[in-house]
Amino acid sequence: MARYRGPVCRLCRREGMKLFLKGERCYKEKCAIERRNAPPGQHGMGRRRKVRAYGLQLREKQKLRRIYGILEGQFRRTFDEANRRKGVTGDTLLQLLELRLDNVVYSLGFATSRTQARQLVRHGHVNVDARRVDIPSFRVRPGMEITMREKSRKNPHIMEAVEFAQGRGIPPWLELEADAFKGKVLENPSREDIRFPIQEQLIVELYSR
Ligand code: SF4
Repeated sequence: MARYRGPVCRLCRREGMKLFLKGERCYKEKCAIERRNAPPGQHGMGRRRKVRAYGLQLREKQKLRRIYGILEGQFRRTFDEANRRKGVTGDTLLQLLELRLDNVVYSLGFATSRTQARQLVRHGHVNVDARRVDIPSFRVRPGMEITMREKSRKNPHIMEAVEFAQGRGIPPWLELEADAFKGKVLENPSREDIRFPIQEQLIVELYSR
Protein backbone atom coordinates (compact mmCIF):
# COMPACT_ATOMS: atom_id res chain seq x y z
CA MET A 1 0.00 0.00 0.00
CA ALA A 2 1.26 3.45 -0.90
CA ARG A 3 2.59 5.75 1.77
CA TYR A 4 4.65 8.93 2.07
CA ARG A 5 8.37 8.12 1.85
CA GLY A 6 9.91 11.58 2.03
CA PRO A 7 11.57 13.31 5.02
CA VAL A 8 9.04 13.32 7.85
CA CYS A 9 10.41 16.18 9.99
CA ARG A 10 9.68 18.40 7.03
CA LEU A 11 5.99 17.57 7.46
CA CYS A 12 6.05 18.76 11.08
CA ARG A 13 7.81 21.96 10.07
CA ARG A 14 5.23 22.53 7.36
CA GLU A 15 2.40 22.19 9.89
CA GLY A 16 4.28 24.16 12.55
CA MET A 17 3.79 21.51 15.22
CA LYS A 18 5.10 18.16 16.38
CA LEU A 19 3.27 15.34 14.62
CA PHE A 20 5.34 12.66 16.42
CA LEU A 21 6.30 10.73 13.30
CA LYS A 22 9.79 9.58 14.32
CA GLY A 23 9.45 7.76 17.60
CA GLU A 24 11.93 8.49 20.38
CA ARG A 25 13.63 11.32 18.51
CA CYS A 26 10.42 13.38 18.77
CA TYR A 27 10.83 13.58 22.54
CA LYS A 28 14.45 14.73 22.40
CA GLU A 29 16.23 18.01 21.72
CA LYS A 30 17.18 16.68 18.30
CA CYS A 31 13.57 17.18 17.15
CA ALA A 32 13.56 19.57 14.19
CA ILE A 33 10.66 21.56 15.64
CA GLU A 34 12.64 22.14 18.85
CA ARG A 35 15.66 23.29 16.86
CA ARG A 36 14.06 25.37 14.11
CA ASN A 37 10.31 25.76 13.97
CA ALA A 38 9.96 27.31 10.52
CA PRO A 39 8.33 26.11 7.30
CA PRO A 40 10.69 24.03 5.13
CA GLY A 41 12.51 25.54 2.19
CA GLN A 42 15.10 28.23 1.63
CA HIS A 43 12.72 31.06 2.48
CA GLY A 44 10.91 29.29 5.28
CA MET A 45 11.87 31.76 8.02
CA GLY A 46 11.03 34.93 6.13
CA ARG A 47 7.84 33.75 4.49
CA ARG A 48 4.74 35.69 5.58
CA ARG A 49 1.60 34.72 3.77
CA LYS A 50 -1.94 35.81 4.25
CA VAL A 51 -3.85 32.65 5.14
CA ARG A 52 -7.36 32.44 3.82
CA ALA A 53 -10.18 30.23 5.11
CA TYR A 54 -9.47 27.60 2.47
CA GLY A 55 -5.79 27.56 3.45
CA LEU A 56 -6.64 26.97 7.11
CA GLN A 57 -9.04 24.16 6.24
CA LEU A 58 -6.49 22.54 3.95
CA ARG A 59 -3.71 22.72 6.56
CA GLU A 60 -5.96 21.14 9.19
CA LYS A 61 -6.78 18.26 6.87
CA GLN A 62 -3.12 17.75 5.95
CA LYS A 63 -2.16 17.82 9.62
CA LEU A 64 -4.63 15.09 10.57
CA ARG A 65 -3.80 12.98 7.53
CA ARG A 66 -0.09 13.19 8.31
CA ILE A 67 -0.53 12.34 11.99
CA TYR A 68 -2.14 9.04 11.00
CA GLY A 69 0.19 8.60 8.02
CA ILE A 70 -2.44 7.97 5.38
CA LEU A 71 -2.74 9.16 1.83
CA GLU A 72 -5.45 11.38 0.42
CA GLY A 73 -7.65 8.67 -1.12
CA GLN A 74 -7.90 6.61 2.05
CA PHE A 75 -8.44 9.73 4.14
CA ARG A 76 -11.25 10.85 1.87
CA ARG A 77 -12.91 7.44 2.04
CA THR A 78 -12.74 7.55 5.84
CA PHE A 79 -14.29 11.01 5.80
CA ASP A 80 -17.09 9.85 3.48
CA GLU A 81 -17.85 6.98 5.83
CA ALA A 82 -17.92 9.36 8.82
CA ASN A 83 -20.24 11.64 6.86
CA ARG A 84 -22.67 8.79 6.15
CA ARG A 85 -22.88 7.79 9.82
CA LYS A 86 -25.19 9.33 12.39
CA GLY A 87 -23.65 11.84 14.78
CA VAL A 88 -21.13 14.67 14.48
CA THR A 89 -19.04 14.02 11.35
CA GLY A 90 -15.80 15.50 12.76
CA ASP A 91 -15.98 13.41 15.93
CA THR A 92 -16.78 10.26 13.94
CA LEU A 93 -13.86 10.91 11.59
CA LEU A 94 -11.44 11.12 14.53
CA GLN A 95 -12.95 8.01 16.07
CA LEU A 96 -12.59 5.97 12.87
CA LEU A 97 -8.95 7.04 12.55
CA GLU A 98 -8.21 6.16 16.19
CA LEU A 99 -9.70 2.70 15.73
CA ARG A 100 -7.23 1.75 12.99
CA LEU A 101 -5.15 -1.25 14.07
CA ASP A 102 -1.82 0.54 13.43
CA ASN A 103 -2.91 3.42 15.67
CA VAL A 104 -3.99 1.02 18.42
CA VAL A 105 -0.65 -0.84 18.29
CA TYR A 106 1.11 2.54 18.65
CA SER A 107 -1.23 3.76 21.41
CA LEU A 108 -0.68 0.57 23.39
CA GLY A 109 3.05 1.27 23.23
CA PHE A 110 4.18 -1.69 21.09
CA ALA A 111 5.73 0.79 18.64
CA THR A 112 7.37 4.19 19.04
CA SER A 113 5.51 5.73 16.09
CA ARG A 114 2.51 4.98 13.91
CA THR A 115 4.89 4.29 11.03
CA GLN A 116 6.66 1.61 13.04
CA ALA A 117 3.29 0.23 14.16
CA ARG A 118 2.17 -0.05 10.55
CA GLN A 119 5.29 -2.04 9.72
CA LEU A 120 4.76 -4.39 12.63
CA VAL A 121 1.21 -5.06 11.50
CA ARG A 122 2.21 -5.54 7.89
CA HIS A 123 5.00 -7.93 8.80
CA GLY A 124 2.58 -10.14 10.72
CA HIS A 125 3.66 -9.43 14.31
CA VAL A 126 0.15 -8.62 15.53
CA ASN A 127 -2.81 -10.82 16.44
CA VAL A 128 -6.35 -9.63 16.92
CA ASP A 129 -8.47 -12.05 18.97
CA ALA A 130 -5.77 -14.71 18.51
CA ARG A 131 -5.72 -14.44 14.70
CA ARG A 132 -3.00 -12.78 12.69
CA VAL A 133 -4.10 -9.52 11.06
CA ASP A 134 -1.68 -7.80 8.67
CA ILE A 135 -3.87 -4.93 7.49
CA PRO A 136 -2.88 -1.63 9.16
CA SER A 137 -6.26 -0.03 8.43
CA PHE A 138 -8.17 -2.93 10.04
CA ARG A 139 -10.74 -1.38 12.36
CA VAL A 140 -10.82 -2.71 15.91
CA ARG A 141 -14.01 -2.87 17.97
CA PRO A 142 -14.71 -2.76 21.71
CA GLY A 143 -13.92 -6.12 23.32
CA MET A 144 -11.19 -7.07 20.84
CA GLU A 145 -7.81 -8.20 22.17
CA ILE A 146 -4.62 -7.14 20.46
CA THR A 147 -1.50 -9.17 21.19
CA MET A 148 2.03 -9.26 19.88
CA ARG A 149 2.72 -12.74 18.52
CA GLU A 150 4.72 -15.06 20.77
CA LYS A 151 7.79 -15.07 18.50
CA SER A 152 7.75 -11.28 18.13
CA ARG A 153 7.96 -10.52 21.84
CA LYS A 154 11.74 -10.86 21.80
CA ASN A 155 12.05 -8.46 18.90
CA PRO A 156 14.39 -5.71 20.24
CA HIS A 157 12.37 -2.95 18.52
CA ILE A 158 9.19 -4.07 20.25
CA MET A 159 10.91 -4.52 23.64
CA GLU A 160 12.47 -1.07 23.34
CA ALA A 161 9.13 0.48 22.35
CA VAL A 162 7.32 -1.08 25.33
CA GLU A 163 9.95 0.27 27.71
CA PHE A 164 9.90 3.69 26.09
CA ALA A 165 6.08 3.88 26.09
CA GLN A 166 5.81 3.53 29.87
CA GLY A 167 6.24 7.28 30.31
CA ARG A 168 3.78 8.07 27.52
CA GLY A 169 0.61 6.66 29.11
CA ILE A 170 -2.24 4.65 27.57
CA PRO A 171 -5.52 6.25 26.41
CA PRO A 172 -8.46 5.50 28.75
CA TRP A 173 -10.37 3.55 26.08
CA LEU A 174 -7.59 0.95 25.93
CA GLU A 175 -6.28 -1.48 28.55
CA LEU A 176 -2.75 -2.82 28.58
CA GLU A 177 -1.09 -5.86 30.13
CA ALA A 178 2.47 -4.92 29.25
CA ASP A 179 4.02 -8.13 30.64
CA ALA A 180 1.75 -10.25 28.46
CA PHE A 181 2.21 -7.95 25.43
CA LYS A 182 -1.56 -7.74 25.33
CA GLY A 183 -4.06 -4.92 25.03
CA LYS A 184 -7.84 -4.67 24.93
CA VAL A 185 -10.25 -2.17 23.42
CA LEU A 186 -12.58 -1.20 26.27
CA GLU A 187 -14.84 1.19 24.35
CA ASN A 188 -14.92 3.48 21.36
CA PRO A 189 -12.77 6.58 21.87
CA SER A 190 -14.62 9.81 22.58
CA ARG A 191 -13.62 13.26 21.33
CA GLU A 192 -12.09 14.08 24.75
CA ASP A 193 -9.76 11.07 24.44
CA ILE A 194 -8.05 12.58 21.39
CA ARG A 195 -5.56 15.02 22.82
CA PHE A 196 -3.61 16.50 19.94
CA PRO A 197 -4.79 19.95 18.83
CA ILE A 198 -6.95 19.55 15.77
CA GLN A 199 -9.97 21.54 14.56
CA GLU A 200 -11.88 18.81 12.79
CA GLN A 201 -14.74 21.20 11.94
CA LEU A 202 -12.41 22.89 9.43
CA ILE A 203 -11.94 19.55 7.65
CA VAL A 204 -15.72 19.07 7.48
CA GLU A 205 -16.01 22.56 5.99
CA LEU A 206 -13.27 21.81 3.46
CA TYR A 207 -14.98 18.70 2.14
CA SER A 208 -18.41 20.38 2.15
CA ARG A 209 -17.33 23.07 -0.33
FE1 SF4 B 1 8.29 15.86 13.98
FE2 SF4 B 1 9.40 13.94 15.40
FE3 SF4 B 1 10.79 15.13 13.45
FE4 SF4 B 1 10.24 16.42 15.74
S1 SF4 B 1 11.54 14.61 15.49
S2 SF4 B 1 10.03 17.23 13.70
S3 SF4 B 1 8.15 15.64 16.18
S4 SF4 B 1 8.95 13.86 13.22
